[in-house]
Amino acid sequence: QLSVQGIVRRFGPVAALAGVDLDVTEGEFLTILGPSGSGKTTLLKAIAGFEIPDEGAVLVGGQDVTLAPPRQRDVGMVFQNYALFPHMTVAQNVAFPLEMRRRPRAEIAQRVEDALRLVELQDFGRRLPRQLSGGQQQRVALARAVVFGPRLLLLDEPFGALDRKLREALQLEVRRLQRRLRLTTIFITHDQEEALIMSDRIAVMDKGRIEQIGLPGDLYARPATRFVADFLGESN
Ligand code: ATP
Repeated sequence: QLSVQGIVRRFGPVAALAGVDLDVTEGEFLTILGPSGSGKTTLLKAIAGFEIPDEGAVLVGGQDVTLAPPRQRDVGMVFQNYALFPHMTVAQNVAFPLEMRRRPRAEIAQRVEDALRLVELQDFGRRLPRQLSGGQQQRVALARAVVFGPRLLLLDEPFGALDRKLREALQLEVRRLQRRLRLTTIFITHDQEEALIMSDRIAVMDKGRIEQIGLPGDLYARPATRFVADFLGESN
């Protein structure tokens, strides 16, 4: 489904990605853990098309998209700071990816309605983002990320700004949505407990590389390197 092959991305002397290989299978939920600056966001951006790697390739559904712009990649993305357009209504925000793809009016209306129902915000279409709570705004961002039927969903600390209770509600919601749509998903979090609850597999990154990838239980039971052992041990 997704294959990342030896990607390198340098910023001056810093290699944000120093050779990353990663295969994610259809419908899988993969979480990326790692210290600040280890390259997690840069990896998602390279997969989404917001960063072009200096070396290596990105394949989605067997197709080489290494140089393709974001909207040609069938990838939905949600960031920490929801980044909804403040002057647009909820429905207009969700419609945006479909407008970009020049879908017909009737299809847009139907898909927006379906996506808002999926996140249980069907009655909020006419509101502005600032008239919603943080959790509701994040659900709108989620609806916008899946409205065009992406093959891949990329989530960069989507609950980072929310309190514990809301996080837990959204964790369930994201997993339910992800299973229902059978969406291949890559999720970045700083919360190890969240990673354990949500993931099929976990990858631990350090200094632009994947140190270890595996089933959550295996990572904790058998960390492959000193770094992984220390990192996973830290916040337990
Ligand atoms: P965090 O957990 O803090 O979000 P991260 O693991 O997502 O960190 P990245 O944001 O991918 O890390 O950054 C990896 C490295 O690349 C860092 O050293 C960062 O300073 C550097 N970097 C990322 N983007 C740029 C950029 N546009 N210009 C210069 N350096 C950058």
